[in-house]
Amino acid sequence: MEDKNYNPFETAQKQFDRAADLLDLNHGTRDLLRNPMREYHFNIPVKMDDGTVKVFRGFRVQHNDARGPAKGGIRFHPMETIDTVRALSMWMTWKTSVADIPLGGGKGGVICDPHHLSKNEQEQICRGWVRQVVKNVGPFSDVPAPDVMTNPQHMLWMLDEYEAIRGEKFPGFITGKPVGMGGSKGRTEATGYGVIITVREALKELKIKPEETLASIQGFGNVAKYAIELYNKMGGKVICVSCWDQADKASYSFRKKEGINLKELIAITDAFGGIDKTKARDLGYEVLPGDAWLEQEVDILIPAALENQIKGDNVNKISKRVKIIAEGANGPTTQEADVVINQKNIHVIPDFLANAGGVVCSYFEQVQCNMNYFWEKDEVLGKLDVKMTTAYLAVSDFAKSNKIKMRDAAYVIAVNRVAQACHDRGWV
Ligand code: GLU
Repeated sequence: MEDKNYNPFETAQKQFDRAADLLDLNHGTRDLLRNPMREYHFNIPVKMDDGTVKVFRGFRVQHNDARGPAKGGIRFHPMETIDTVRALSMWMTWKTSVADIPLGGGKGGVICDPHHLSKNEQEQICRGWVRQVVKNVGPFSDVPAPDVMTNPQHMLWMLDEYEAIRGEKFPGFITGKPVGMGGSKGRTEATGYGVIITVREALKELKIKPEETLASIQGFGNVAKYAIELYNKMGGKVICVSCWDQADKASYSFRKKEGINLKELIAITDAFGGIDKTKARDLGYEVLPGDAWLEQEVDILIPAALENQIKGDNVNKISKRVKIIAEGANGPTTQEADVVINQKNIHVIPDFLANAGGVVCSYFEQVQCNMNYFWEKDEVLGKLDVKMTTAYLAVSDFAKSNKIKMRDAAYVIAVNRVAQACHDRGWV
C-alpha cells in the first residue's frame, strides 16, 4: 500500500482472468466475477477530542454472495484505497470458497491512522461506520470481522451500534469479537495457526522434518505471532522477523541466528506490532533493513504483513535454500515476482489458502453465536485443523494431478465453486 503505482485490484483481476481462462468460463460469468457486485462509499463525521470535526472516508465492498452472506474484515489504514478494498473483497470470495465454508466475499475499510486516534475517536469511527451501512450489512447478508489495525474491541463497538439501531441482539452480525462477548475461543490464534497447519502439510509432502527447518517472517502482528508460536511448537526455528517502525516510517528486520524468542520480542512490542529497536539490540538482535527478512538462508518464508511485498525488484534476493513460501498476508506477491518464484521451483501456499484460518474460525464463531453455545478452545482448534488440512490437500492434489502450480490450483477450485453457485442460482 506504500507504493502509489501499485493497484492490487488490477492484480486480483489479472489473477482471476488467468483462472477464468483455465476454466474456460463464459463471458457472463467472467463479467460478473471480475468486479464486485455492490460497493458502498461514505463519509464518517467524527467529533474529535479537541472539539473539531473530522470526516473519515469509509467503504464496504461485497464482491460476491452466491455461496452465502458476504464475509470479510474491515481495515483501518491511512493509505487505504477503494481498489485495495475491491481486491481484498474478491480475494475473500476465493478464500471462503477454497475453504469450503458457506459464505461469500466482502471487505471494508476506513482511511485513518489508529496510531494517531484516541480510544474515543476510534469508537466514534466504528459506530459511524455501522450507521452508514446498517441497511446493507447483517448476519444474513454481510458479516464483517477484524483485519489490518482493527481488533476485537472495534468489533464489539460495531456490534453494539448495530444492535442499538436494530433494537435486538444479533451476535452473528460480526466476528472476531472478544471471548465472553460472543467471540470464539481460538479466533485470535486462528489465522497464524492456520498458516502453519498448511506449512505442516507442505513439509510432509516435501518429506522435510519441521524440526530441521528455519523460517523468516515479515510482520509481527496477530498473524505472525501465532504463526511463530505454532511453528516453534512443531520444532521449527524462526531466525528473523520484520516489522513497521511508526516513528521512522520504515520497516526493520530483527535477526537472531540461534532463533528469535517470541516472548521476549512480544514484551518489547507496541500495540501495532512495532518492535523497540534499542531494547532489541540490548537483547542481542541484529537490526537490519526492512527487506532483509526476504534474503535469509531459510527453508520457509512467511510474508505476514501487507500486499505488494515480494515484487520484481526484490524477488531475486530470495535465497536458494527457500523451499516454501506461505502467504500469511493477503496479496503479498506481485504477478511479476510469482513468475520468478515458479522458476525457482519454490512451493507457494497461496494467500487465500494459507491465511483462510481466520475466516474459517469466524464461520465457527457465527455458528456458535447462532446456537448460543460456545465450544472449548480444543474443539475449535481441532475443527480448524480439519478444515485447513482438507483445503490444503484438495489444492495440492489438484495441482499434482493437473501438473499446475498451487496458486493456479487454488484459483481453479475456488472460482469454479463460485461460478457453479452463480450458475445454479440462475444468475449466469
Ligand atoms: N480479515 C481476515 C481475512 O482477511 C478475516 C476475515 C473474516 O474473518 O471474516 O481473512
